[in-house]
Amino acid sequence: MEETKTFRLAVIPGDGIGKEVIAAGLQVLDHIAEESGGRFAFEKDTFPWGCEYYLEHGKMMDEDGVEKMKGYDAIYFGAVGFPGVPDHVSLWGLRLAICQGLDQWANVRPIEFLPGVPRRLNHPDVDTLNWVLVRENSEGEYSGIGGRNFAGRGPGKEVAVQSALFTEHGCERIIRFAFELARTRKRKRVLSVTKSNAQQYGMVLWDEVFARVSKEYPDVEAEQGLVDAVAAHFVLRPEELEVVVASNLFADILSDLGSALAGSLGLAPSANLDPERKAPSMFESVHGSAPDIAGQGIANPIGSIASAAMMLSHLGLEEEAEQLNRAIAETTRQGIMTRDIGGTHDTAGVTEAIIRNLAAVK
Ligand code: ATP
Ligand code: MG
Repeated sequence: MEETKTFRLAVIPGDGIGKEVIAAGLQVLDHIAEESGGRFAFEKDTFPWGCEYYLEHGKMMDEDGVEKMKGYDAIYFGAVGFPGVPDHVSLWGLRLAICQGLDQWANVRPIEFLPGVPRRLNHPDVDTLNWVLVRENSEGEYSGIGGRNFAGRGPGKEVAVQSALFTEHGCERIIRFAFELARTRKRKRVLSVTKSNAQQYGMVLWDEVFARVSKEYPDVEAEQGLVDAVAAHFVLRPEELEVVVASNLFADILSDLGSALAGSLGLAPSANLDPERKAPSMFESVHGSAPDIAGQGIANPIGSIASAAMMLSHLGLEEEAEQLNRAIAETTRQGIMTRDIGGTHDTAGVTEAIIRNLAAVK
């Protein structure tokens, strides 16, 4: 008999609905492993890090937390954030610490228009829309460079500086990643997003690198846009979008816009990849901890379950990943949805339906 391949997963549910949607995703993953007939299994270690941990221990994660992650095949992440803990503390103390500590420099965020979901977008071909946002995940506006309270400034006269870091290496690797990804897509097209008319150093460097790298991909259509115009483009001409590559901040904003257009923030998956695979990659839904609905069992689990599908694909379980994506689409097609997308089902109901539909779409 063939030996069972065991994948080691680090699970970080985090705060709020993070815990609920991760539980849903794990239920689905366990089912998929059971159905594999011993071909593969998941060995999971759960880390209780997040804001509750912070309130108790004064830190979001263990000091050697990043180091601890290195022994795993992948990290499955919920969400962090809690009223009473400043967002920058929770974000920097855990999520960004892992992303940057493990150099997960490519954040991939597919925007999928699932069947049956009420749209926020009035578009004749709305059911065929889908594109993928590639977010630079290691530098840019989230480099943490700057400071407050410069010498000699009294009360009411405070000055704060927040710098964005753009390196040629950082720009080049994410832009190249976007072109490589475009080659695997139906339409070979990359749209690069900056604001180089107003940000004349880092973003001009980005534009120059984009122009240079694009020459190596004559088979891929290359286009550049300014972020304000691209925001309008998302709404007005989404059918033209295929791979969109942008800096840390701009892609963060555009991904919320994209997922809201597709129906809900609760639907959007994401992968924080180290494409060179020196360290484990991290898979998480795009949404936050949503304190307004936490603890009620009504969070949409699809973003997190679709992130699990991206994790399966990253682990080489391509067939299982595709099957899971089909099961998700079949579930929304049947109208089994949470309230944020106009349904009446709860987290558990949607999760069970997805598990049921795994067999139906095989
Ligand atoms: P962060 O600062 O972590 O990005 P945020 O302030 O953007 O978080 P979210 O927690 O993402 O906020 O929530 C934004 C809104 O979307 C909230 O009203 C929340 O209830 C809703 N929402 C987010 N995720 C889901 C989900 N999975 N299911 C249902 N509603 C959701
Ligand atoms: Mg947000």
